Amino acid sequence: MLTPPVNFEIQATEGQARAAVLTTRRGVIETPVFMPVGTAGTVKGMRFEELESPELDARIILGNTYHLWLRPGIETIRAGGGLHKFIGWERAMLTDSGGFQVWSLGALRKITEAGTEFRSHVDGSLCFLSPEVSMEVQATLGAEIAMVFDECAPGEATLDEARRSMELTLRWAQRSKDAFDRLQSEVLGDETKTKDQRPKTDLGQALFGIIQGAGHLDLRRESLERTVEIGFDGYAIGGLSVGEEKHVMMDVIEDIAPRMPDDQPRYLMGVGTPEDLIEAVARGVDMFDCVLPTRNGRNGQAFTARGKLNIKNARYALDQNPLDEFCSCSVCRRHTRAFIRHLYQSGEMLASMLLTHHNLAFFLDTMKRVRQAIRSDQFAKFRRDYTGS
Ligand SMILES: [Zn+2]
Repeated sequence: MLTPPVNFEIQATEGQARAAVLTTRRGVIETPVFMPVGTAGTVKGMRFEELESPELDARIILGNTYHLWLRPGIETIRAGGGLHKFIGWERAMLTDSGGFQVWSLGALRKITEAGTEFRSHVDGSLCFLSPEVSMEVQATLGAEIAMVFDECAPGEATLDEARRSMELTLRWAQRSKDAFDRLQSEVLGDETKTKDQRPKTDLGQALFGIIQGAGHLDLRRESLERTVEIGFDGYAIGGLSVGEEKHVMMDVIEDIAPRMPDDQPRYLMGVGTPEDLIEAVARGVDMFDCVLPTRNGRNGQAFTARGKLNIKNARYALDQNPLDEFCSCSVCRRHTRAFIRHLYQSGEMLASMLLTHHNLAFFLDTMKRVRQAIRSDQFAKFRRDYTGS
């Protein structure tokens, strides 16, 4: 009998919001949690020591199947002993399946029943990603949580388009699960080997299903029901923040999150601003990832308690305040807006690093405060103070 790869225990609730503990083989993660995005095996501009420091204390980061598969390639990562060892990160990871990335290639890819054919952005070669290939790559990467290979429908998809896409995602979910189980049992079920002889990177991965259906609530509900029938260790809402209107996104989350299995983690993929995160927590979501703090940081934007701040703005040229006067991160304790603006205007790489550090500190601290608020029954007030809703 195999031990479950992840354990999820809800410790406090307030309305739909949940404070829980997700236990993986590489550490305990308190939820609601924000997961910094480490596309190519690096959270851009951040050293792992910073991510592990008490100040940020990121317990889980994302890796990206599509990018790592194309470069450096799976053989390099296998030779390095799996993704954790290769990149030097001992804490938990989640890998996405590559489904969203190949879908995002638009005209450059061809989707068939078998999978998705596309040209590599690295060397132009013809590549083919399918549920089976994605599961194999993710088994080698060895993250604590793997995702099914799915297809996304555009935000403005018609009912017919969204249904076709949802049905394909369901068939791919079953194929992902079959391939995943096969790969896990090859490693875990080999009774001729002792636990120590089995490759550590392949022990007890969890697989999450992804709910699709664009902005159509009836499709979303059907997708949820049929994905749960297949049976996964957790469930994600995919296909949001892809061009639909904001209220559509919140309508989907509000309708679907509370219907997701109560005793398993609920993950909202690729969303969003701190306000979006808080609103989604209020609707029952536990896990988040988004490129906003890192990407916007590199583009000169800081998230603050008073909203977004664009460091390029001339008004900061002589501003002796920190990026965010309410933030206690090491960047805000040491540097002024004027200095960071100077770095940015001079094209110094430190500008991106400082802005990214602050933004991640801001996102991670916001989620910490969300968790504390739920545990002390203060979340409704916290949400009101923060978002005005
Ligand atoms: Zn700061």
